[in-house]
Amino acid sequence: MNLSENPLPPGDPGVLIIGGGLVGASLAIALDAAGIAVTLVEAAAPRVDAQPSHDQRNLALARASVNGLAAIGVWPHAAARATPIRHIHVSRAGEFGSARIDANTHGVDALGWTLPAHELGAALLRRLDACTRLTRLAPATLEQIEPLAAGWRAQIRTAAGVRPIDAALLVGADGTESRVRAQLGIGAERHDYRQTLFVCTVLPERDHAGRAWERFADDGPIALLPLAERRCGLVLTVPTDEADAVAALDDAAFLALAQRRFGWRLGRLSQPGRRHPYAIQRVAASELTAPRAVLVGNAAQTVHPIGAQGFNLGLRDALTLAELLADAAASGEGDPGAADLLARYAARRVPDREGTMTMSHGLVRLACLPQPLLAPLRSLALLACDRVPPLQRALATRGMGFRGEPPRAVLERQP
Ligand SMILES: Cc1cc2nc3c(=O)[nH]c(=O)nc-3n(C[C@H](O)[C@H](O)[C@H](O)COP(=O)(O)OP(=O)(O)OC[C@H]3O[C@@H](n4cnc5c(N)ncnc54)[C@H](O)[C@@H]3O)c2cc1C
Repeated sequence: MNLSENPLPPGDPGVLIIGGGLVGASLAIALDAAGIAVTLVEAAAPRVDAQPSHDQRNLALARASVNGLAAIGVWPHAAARATPIRHIHVSRAGEFGSARIDANTHGVDALGWTLPAHELGAALLRRLDACTRLTRLAPATLEQIEPLAAGWRAQIRTAAGVRPIDAALLVGADGTESRVRAQLGIGAERHDYRQTLFVCTVLPERDHAGRAWERFADDGPIALLPLAERRCGLVLTVPTDEADAVAALDDAAFLALAQRRFGWRLGRLSQPGRRHPYAIQRVAASELTAPRAVLVGNAAQTVHPIGAQGFNLGLRDALTLAELLADAAASGEGDPGAADLLARYAARRVPDREGTMTMSHGLVRLACLPQPLLAPLRSLALLACDRVPPLQRALATRGMGFRGEPPRAVLERQP
């Protein structure tokens, strides 16, 4: 990669973010709050119904993420529509043992909150509207990038045509099929789980009482997340070669399948909302950074949704990068694309990223393997997480999103 021609013209914004989804928008807001000039380029129009990830999926937001969203002024726009998760219950169909995590035991009011993605999207858009230094281009798409001596020139297409934007730091927040990643020449390792997730809401007979359930089985995991008005967000995984048949089921047959897979802990499940299918893959970038460029969120790593880690991990990417850039600016280090800053970023993110990806991938693979010989080991592992205090503490701390060296914004703050 040649960064020797064409210096960056003075007066251009320092940071250019490609992708204003859940993670890119959070990063733009955090940088704006820190007084850093940013341009945000997003392919979709700035409306909740236009953006693909602002859909009907229900996001389980870890406690750390909610702290972070509060710190950047997003949570006040979303809190009224969020439901606290006070207990988590993990089990495997047909095997003994389960792991339970209880907020009270760990001295907190909630382990996390459930929020429909479109509500988080709406809150981010509202908070973006209040940014004072940010330049937003939407709808606008990145076409290509070329290197400059001290940055990148990005060709951006808007309704008015294609225009160049120069930046000292290019951020790829453009999702799983990241064009930034491809154009930087960063490779990606892919794993197709051959699973399809069906997401909808249901009304259980019994009150969910703030409990989130995760249940593994040979066919894949199923999860129920607590929502407002006694409803639950259902996430049902099926092998992809059965997905068309499941999509074609009428509501009664779909509910019967969900009931068979989940069991009767919450009584009869009824009143399913509209079903949305998602094909699931894991995509991991081989590098987090390139000269004067960095990948965040799904562009850096896309994980299986069942562990509810994707946005939580991506938000920690965004808030760590924002913290490093703000600290550098405050100490007079003016260059946001400096090599040592990006090296510090990668060093901070690698443990959290690898730990979370290993946990999420391992959980889905091990917990769903139809191996009777594994059954006693799995049951013992669940029992140990339930009963052995240090294991239980570690599980709860990580489940609440306090992993690696967390960004300061996610740490607990005194009221
Ligand atoms: C069913 C399901 C359930 C999930 N549940 C959870 C959960 O409970 N908890 C959790 O933490 N995570 C969950 N996730 C994961 C979470 O939704 C993602 O990790 C998160 O949306 C990633 O955000 P992102 O901003 O990195 O990427 P995206 O949301 O994909 O945003 C990328 C953005 O980039 C834009 N873009 C792309 N290319 C260009 C271009 N060339 N120019 C300009 N803009 C471009 C796109 O329009 C898009 O807005 C779930 C995912 C699924 C599918």
